[in-house]
Amino acid sequence: MKKRIFLFLLIFTFFAFFMTPVTIRADEPVIVVIDPGHGGENLGARYNGYIEKEMNLTVAQAMYDELSQYDGIQVYMTRESDAELTLAERAEYAAGVNADLLISLHFNASESHTFYGSEVWISAFGENYQEGYAFGEAVLDQFDTLGTYRKGVKTRLGDDGEDYYGIIREARARNVTAAIIEHCYMDHDFDKSFYNTTEKLKHLGRLDATATARYFGLSSESLGVDYSDYKKVMVELPSSAVKPDLTPPDICYLELEESDKDNRTLKLRLSAEDYDSGMLYYSYSLDGGETFATLREWPDADTFQFIVEVPNGISPHVVINAYNKYDVYATSNAITIEGFPLVSKTEQESAVVTESESEATITETTEEESTIEVWEEVIITTENSTEPDRSFTTFLIICGICLGSLFILLIIGYSYLSHQKKKRRRKF
Ligand SMILES: [Zn+2]
Repeated sequence: MKKRIFLFLLIFTFFAFFMTPVTIRADEPVIVVIDPGHGGENLGARYNGYIEKEMNLTVAQAMYDELSQYDGIQVYMTRESDAELTLAERAEYAAGVNADLLISLHFNASESHTFYGSEVWISAFGENYQEGYAFGEAVLDQFDTLGTYRKGVKTRLGDDGEDYYGIIREARARNVTAAIIEHCYMDHDFDKSFYNTTEKLKHLGRLDATATARYFGLSSESLGVDYSDYKKVMVELPSSAVKPDLTPPDICYLELEESDKDNRTLKLRLSAEDYDSGMLYYSYSLDGGETFATLREWPDADTFQFIVEVPNGISPHVVINAYNKYDVYATSNAITIEGFPLVSKTEQESAVVTESESEATITETTEEESTIEVWEEVIITTENSTEPDRSFTTFLIICGICLGSLFILLIIGYSYLSHQKKKRRRKF
């Protein structure tokens, strides 16, 4: 009996020993293809002397050097020089080397030059989505250490319902998972400090390498790191296309909390939500939506307060644009603040101070008293406007005088000209 049990255990151990390596692919190296976007005649984005194809190559070479130092990986590049390749050729190359992952490296730019941050584009379908999502999150985790704004891991579909981006579509057609890393925006000052030297570009490449190593759970003796315990972000295998969010945020509501006329600031409360994809940026306009300030990062809340400075010469008519994760925005209700002075009170007073030092103390005390009045004068007009205040009346009087003088000048000019004509007629 004992012999039988021993024999059974021996056979079991024998099979377990030889079967395990097959299931965990311990001996099979991971194969990664790095694709520096664009090349040759295809320059990619250009901004202030920066050319995307060159930046992509610098990042890719640094990524290659770093990633090659890990154990159990084979790294390839679609181009190592300024070569021009079609998207199909890049995907074909990846399929040819039996790649587990094709990583296309890029830098972003927006038509409006207003966006900033990092994003990763992936396939909307099946395992390509599942794997791409986990990889994209690993990449953005690395960029968090740098401090770029996290725009997310996203899908985009073309009119035909297939993946919009060619490299992702071509790779999927060849059974390869591909992801596009848009490191940051070349055309925004917020992101400039992440790419404006060769060393910084190389650093981005090393971050890409670390993200890849973590995603595959690799380790490196020479680098002294071990990511074998790394937990990937797991998302469900989608049964149909994971569609992008093309609709604007569902809620975008603006309220005025405080209006400080002396310091020319407004404290505003914004409530916005997007049920599909979440919020990303917001921007305010003080001229009713004609011009907007720089986009701000969306804080971790549906409702929050923020302070806006009102420059001299502006009577605020506030509107907010709130953007979702897919850069689609909703515009808030408008708020007009009546009686906001065109020039700050402190500046008006500094003129008085230069005239007489002794009067300055008086102005200071009266200012304190008047502050309460000024604050009470603040009226939020969402429907009906109320009585204009004194500064507005003065403005109207000045306008009236100007128009009156212009009218008189026109009459004088006209009578002078008709007089001259009559003179000429008499001569003939
Ligand atoms: Zn590009």
